[in-house]
Amino acid sequence: AKPQVVVIGGGYGGATAARYIRMWSDNSIAVTLIEPNASFISCPLSNLVLGGSRQIGDLTMSINALADKHGVRIVRDTVTNINADKRTLALAGGETLSYDRLIVSPGVDFMWDQLPGMLKPGAQDTILHAWKAGAQTVALRAQLEAMPDGGVYAMTIPPAPYRCPPGPYERASQIAFYFSRHKPKSKVLILDANDDVVSKGPLFKKVWRERYAGIIDYRPSFRTADVDAAARTAISELGDKVQADVLNVIPPQRAGSIAVRSGLANVNAHWCGVDFLTFESTQAKNIHVLGDAIAVAPLMPKSAHMANQHAKVCAAAVVDLLSGRAPDAHPMLTNTCYSFVSDHDVIHVASVHAYDAAKKTLLVVSGSGGVSSGPSALEGEYAMNWAHNIWADTLG
Ligand code: FAD
Repeated sequence: AKPQVVVIGGGYGGATAARYIRMWSDNSIAVTLIEPNASFISCPLSNLVLGGSRQIGDLTMSINALADKHGVRIVRDTVTNINADKRTLALAGGETLSYDRLIVSPGVDFMWDQLPGMLKPGAQDTILHAWKAGAQTVALRAQLEAMPDGGVYAMTIPPAPYRCPPGPYERASQIAFYFSRHKPKSKVLILDANDDVVSKGPLFKKVWRERYAGIIDYRPSFRTADVDAAARTAISELGDKVQADVLNVIPPQRAGSIAVRSGLANVNAHWCGVDFLTFESTQAKNIHVLGDAIAVAPLMPKSAHMANQHAKVCAAAVVDLLSGRAPDAHPMLTNTCYSFVSDHDVIHVASVHAYDAAKKTLLVVSGSGGVSSGPSALEGEYAMNWAHNIWADTLG
């Protein structure tokens, strides 16, 4: 019988791993992918839906090519339990699957218990995160469209690490862009738990000064401790209250629930430790973890680009391990995060990460990468091409 690999999650990490294991094993490994959602909806570019220059349909794709072109068995279901000793997993629909190697790429989940007011009935229906692209992205856009000119949109940013370090600042820029064109008396208030802009700080701040002065107000070190949803008010740990017409709470994050529940989140009880040569869990044998759910190496962002790179290192290692070969000892990964600051102008940050055998982690190669000198439409073209390339690479 063919070796069996099961993949949890058909997002950026999981779908890429499923596809590449099939390709690199010449279809000699059976791959089953478990994903509850009917379609893949991209978080990258979803801030443009809030800015008004894209629709959610532009970012919604089928995952069926993984089955049709690559022979991945896709099961539309949710994994409820992993039994690492027996190498089995249970699905909400009742099926039990066994595996030789399991790949877990469930993304992030939100720590709502850190914002008690958000646990009140109905709170999460009116105060949106839009940090998983889809219905919430569309609903937040509708709130912005319904807001009268002269209103205040406030966003809370959780402490790092969270999914997509530049994402909140790109979102603030997108909404400021929309206000500058359609509601010029309105404000964007950024309530950041971190002490400074987490990614591309000088570039974002320059854009805000030069393009969105009077619209964007940036408040660092505002650590949101609670939310009064009915009053659309964020409350800081110091008791400061900020009321908004549209309040967008990006909650504190940890590895996806299935990873936490299965005991894989062994770093600060929030993130999953991995061996960076194979992305095998440091907690459980024969289980690999990818993407946002891992405890990242130094200066490694939680990004789609990184999840794609984790997936390829892991896919190659899984094919080697199931074929009795030693995995590559020198993995090297790259990352580029593009951020749209208008409907077409973009800035980027890039880095290269190489395995350090002595430190047993991935370290940024000195002198690699860097940031844009400033926003440009040419980088806007690069960003769109990046998105189309990664979608094709992920979904086949
Ligand atoms: P995901 O892509 O979220 O996939 C996880 C999948 O697992 C989901 O489909 C989920 O349904 C499934 N799942 C979860 N639990 C289970 C279970 N129990 N059983 C079965 N399936 C399960 N990154 C970039 O590189 N560039 C960008 O420009 C960029 N922009 C962003 C903008 C925003 C607004 C946001 C929010 C994020 C952005 N990101 C960007 C980050 C990027 O979206 C994530 O880093 C990436 O999605 C991580 O991939 P993943 O596989 O870890 O998780």
